[in-house]
Amino acid sequence: MCESLNRKRAGKSSLSWPHVIPPRGRIAYVNGHYVRHGQAQVHIEDRGLQFGDAVYEVCAIEDGRLRDEQEHLDRLERSTREIEMAMPLPRSALKLVFREVVRRNRVRTGLLYLQVTRGAAHRDHPIPPRGLRPTLILTAHSLDPAAIAKRRAEGIAVITRPDERWARRDIKTTQLLPNLLAKTAARRAGAYEAILVDEEGVVTEGSSTNAWIVDKDGRLTTRALSNDILPGVTRRVIFEAAAEAQLPIIERGFAPKEAYAAEEAFISSATGIYPVIAIDGRRVGEGVPGPVTRRVQELYARKSAMRAGAADGWR
Ligand code: PLP
Repeated sequence: MCESLNRKRAGKSSLSWPHVIPPRGRIAYVNGHYVRHGQAQVHIEDRGLQFGDAVYEVCAIEDGRLRDEQEHLDRLERSTREIEMAMPLPRSALKLVFREVVRRNRVRTGLLYLQVTRGAAHRDHPIPPRGLRPTLILTAHSLDPAAIAKRRAEGIAVITRPDERWARRDIKTTQLLPNLLAKTAARRAGAYEAILVDEEGVVTEGSSTNAWIVDKDGRLTTRALSNDILPGVTRRVIFEAAAEAQLPIIERGFAPKEAYAAEEAFISSATGIYPVIAIDGRRVGEGVPGPVTRRVQELYARKSAMRAGAADGWR
């Protein structure tokens, strides 16, 4: 009974995914093919599925264009290099696929997701010899611009959690179990994000964001780049924009105690720069988004929009 219902829902497909309800018209890219989202599939012995032997990127789409495209491609190249994986396509071809996925899904505000796995092979731990074809998948979906604007304007609450991840957090791999457990704990506590704290009691970053505080002199502080954190693209663009605006940034770790007492705090990721107005139930500053965070939001938006305007091939 269930089987036949599923078959009906899936239309002509021989496979069905009853737990996924794709919005109509959503198109995924799988290894050179544009296919209906509900019918997209990879091999069951794909190393991404078997081992998390895969890297990914998430890029924001605003006004139908990708934000910070070059920087995301730079990081993808780095991630693949670090795990001895080949890029699935040259950069120019990837850019064409990005544009086509965004266009086919008619996304104006949303996210583009890309994953590259090492490919499908008989399950065995060592990296197979060269010649394996990487699996490349892309999806794009819309986000509610009003919900994003509200978070940007009103801020969010966070909680702190122990950082239980591996020692190469600088590589954007799909092995996200500790991240999603921390994020789930945050959501269950009524917060938006979990800020992760290492064994020395120092904040690394958020479960899917970089973490920042602002001191009394208006200086920004965020953890320095190392194997301990992901080199956030938004973080990188904030650094460039802040340098141009002569807004000082200190790169060092800070303890949750310092964050509780900060004037302001915020998190950054492709989905946005969100003011943090409460940490572990304690108000940050006045408990409302502060002027320095607002300035960072504006500087980032200007810098990133300028780049999107200059990029080629967007309609
Ligand atoms: N840190 C982690 C652990 C992340 O997963 C992310 C984004 O997914 C970020 C930081 C922010 O990176 P970006 O600004 O490139 O989105």
